[in-house]
Amino acid sequence: MEQDHFDTIVVGAGIVGSALAAFLSKDTDQRILLIDRSFDTLTGSTGYASGLIGQLNVSPTLTTLAQESVKEYATIPGAFNRVGCLELGSTDEGLCDQQNRLVMAKEHGLAARLLGHDETMGLLPPFVKQDSFRQALYFPDDGLADPGVITHAYRSQAKSRGVQFIQTDVVEIKQSGSTVTGVVTSHGRSFQARQVVLASGIWTTQLLLKSIQKEIPLVPVAHPYVFSGTRENRSASHAFVRWTERLVYARNHGDRDGFGTYDHPPLAIDSLGSSAVSDWKDSGFDEAVSKALKECLSSGFGTTETDSNGDFSEDQMQEKVSAVFALTPDNLPLVGAIAPAGLWIAAAIWITHAAGCAKFLTKLLKREQVDDNMKFALNPGRFGSNVSMEELKKHALRTYNDIYGADEITGGP
Ligand SMILES: Cc1cc2nc3c(=O)[nH]c(=O)nc-3n(C[C@H](O)[C@H](O)[C@H](O)COP(=O)(O)OP(=O)(O)OC[C@H]3O[C@@H](n4cnc5c(N)ncnc54)[C@H](O)[C@@H]3O)c2cc1C
Repeated sequence: MEQDHFDTIVVGAGIVGSALAAFLSKDTDQRILLIDRSFDTLTGSTGYASGLIGQLNVSPTLTTLAQESVKEYATIPGAFNRVGCLELGSTDEGLCDQQNRLVMAKEHGLAARLLGHDETMGLLPPFVKQDSFRQALYFPDDGLADPGVITHAYRSQAKSRGVQFIQTDVVEIKQSGSTVTGVVTSHGRSFQARQVVLASGIWTTQLLLKSIQKEIPLVPVAHPYVFSGTRENRSASHAFVRWTERLVYARNHGDRDGFGTYDHPPLAIDSLGSSAVSDWKDSGFDEAVSKALKECLSSGFGTTETDSNGDFSEDQMQEKVSAVFALTPDNLPLVGAIAPAGLWIAAAIWITHAAGCAKFLTKLLKREQVDDNMKFALNPGRFGSNVSMEELKKHALRTYNDIYGADEITGGP
């Protein structure tokens, strides 16, 4: 029988909420409720992620979280394919950044090496234009995650440990005085809890504003991703590729290929529907996509042929997807407590850092010892009140085009 009283309610069962429910329910008799408006289909950002996991980041906190996440994903069958990452550079400045990143990688104990053009060609998928780079920085331990496999594995772990699942929409966070007491659903049903965690991704701002009139600097942005048509035979696994100076990335999905680009004006999404998909029409993405395919991709896209370096044709794009993820002013997640007492958030978290963040929040919720630097770096209140929310949001939006900048590799796709 469904009960209405819990120790912890987690709102959102994307990769973050599902991982949190799994970790939190381990070795405890806590009553935990996991709520999502859709358990059948992954309608949040997790369902649209391209799955690239690059572990090295200019932020040591993010590098640690990525390394911890990869360790976790590697224990789940079919979740992580260590295909490697090739960061391609073509300008003098780009090659210099590669040197710096190589040093940084060594400092974090991450395997990395520089490869010349010919050696790189042997590792690349067939769709990379031969003249689109001069040298590569190779990370053999990076790879491709399957966000669906990971999310479902964490949900099964949570379920087997007694976590209750309810498919419904949370419309209100209840509080009494300065303490959270639970949530209310769109059907008017109340669930009580001592603590509520919002793992609600891009919808977190909206839920907080509507419910407790609180704003956080989390900005939903649309991002374009393009798939080739499917091929009959699956292509062998290849490293995924980032043209860091051109803000473009691509991967082989086995039965098809895909690429994304950040080389366009950031597009904030003010009005969210019930899924993370946004409208391609009027997005202005076509220009960036054409540029990416002209500069980076060859006719090998979507085929198993080796690179003839012929030009990519527009008909090779079979499916264009615009989907939304969350940005913050410093490109770090928001993980920790916010007022009122008993309310926590875990949002703006890449697949790359999801398990690491969920483990970290589990420790906070269980009042276990955590690393103070990480607690400070992820604290949702770290931006203080000196800078206006409007300014913080502008900052967040600007980080979109810095995603592969020399100072701001975020670990995103
Ligand atoms: C096109 C694209 C490509 C990407 N590629 C990569 C990549 O290669 N590598 C990488 O690391 N990251 C990538 N990302 C980012 C990544 O997908 C997200 O950062 C991550 O999935 C966020 O997970 P989440 O669990 O926080 O959010 P979500 O997956 O959005 O989950 C939030 C859940 O909360 C539920 N929810 C929200 N509000 C309510 C409510 N009021 N009531 C009930 N349920 C609610 C939603 O239904 C949803 O299931 C990509 C994102 C996009 C859009």
